[in-house]
Amino acid sequence: MGSSQTELPALKFPFKDPKFIFFTDFDGTITLQDSNDFMTDNIGFGGDKRRQGNRDVLEGKDTFRDSFKKMMDSVTKPFPECIDYLVQNIKLDPGFQEYFQWALKNEIPTVVVSSGMEPIIRAILKNLIGPDHDKLDIVSNEVEARPGKSIDQEGGWQIKYHDDSGFGHDKSLTLRPYANLPKEKRPTLFYAGDGVSDLSAAKETDLLFAKKGHDLIRYCARENVPFTVFEDWSNILKVVKKIHAGEISVHDAAKQGYEDYKNGAAGLSANGQAK
Ligand SMILES: [Mg+2]
Repeated sequence: MGSSQTELPALKFPFKDPKFIFFTDFDGTITLQDSNDFMTDNIGFGGDKRRQGNRDVLEGKDTFRDSFKKMMDSVTKPFPECIDYLVQNIKLDPGFQEYFQWALKNEIPTVVVSSGMEPIIRAILKNLIGPDHDKLDIVSNEVEARPGKSIDQEGGWQIKYHDDSGFGHDKSLTLRPYANLPKEKRPTLFYAGDGVSDLSAAKETDLLFAKKGHDLIRYCARENVPFTVFEDWSNILKVVKKIHAGEISVHDAAKQGYEDYKNGAAGLSANGQAK
């Protein structure tokens, strides 16, 4: 894959040649619940089967790609009904709106990098953040009609993956062209996430915000990926403001994150037990 600027929309939209870019996971990171888990548990095959699927992936018996497709296939409601259902139920992180408005004012693009489906993410964001949602770009999977059907029909839709990887959407592939930019053109890259799928993406960025009490923190500590801990986006905003103002470096912020983890302030103790 090349890294010509045509493949790097965040260098042009919504701001030209930004000095910082904030990439972020969607489910459980910008929102309080995971919309795909919510849909599977309530209108799909249920939480028990979903958790078994997760275990199979962790034990290497199934790929994330195939396991996630089974989850989505178990939801047969027409797609517009799924969207409505999620728009009614999924809530925004309490600090996200303030972060987002500050980022727009300071010309920092925010890009959602997700394993979910674009129309669902867009509808939820439109509902939760209002008209400025269109200044936020989404890189994710899509939805498509099953052969001979339309997505408006019962059992009529399926997930359409972003790439051929075992993740369906390998987030690191989306971020790498930015990470590989020549030094004079390369913005400082931030990433926020909560799950295992965020680890490969995080490795491409300068500073990872990992959600308190979630698995991602353990993986980061094990693999020496620098990170800082957040509970909600007000914590993220505080750190990004300081970096933006030149008061601290991304390196300092990451060091603080590791110390929080060692001291047990990350919601997980260093021996791997949840606190
Ligand atoms: Mg997530």
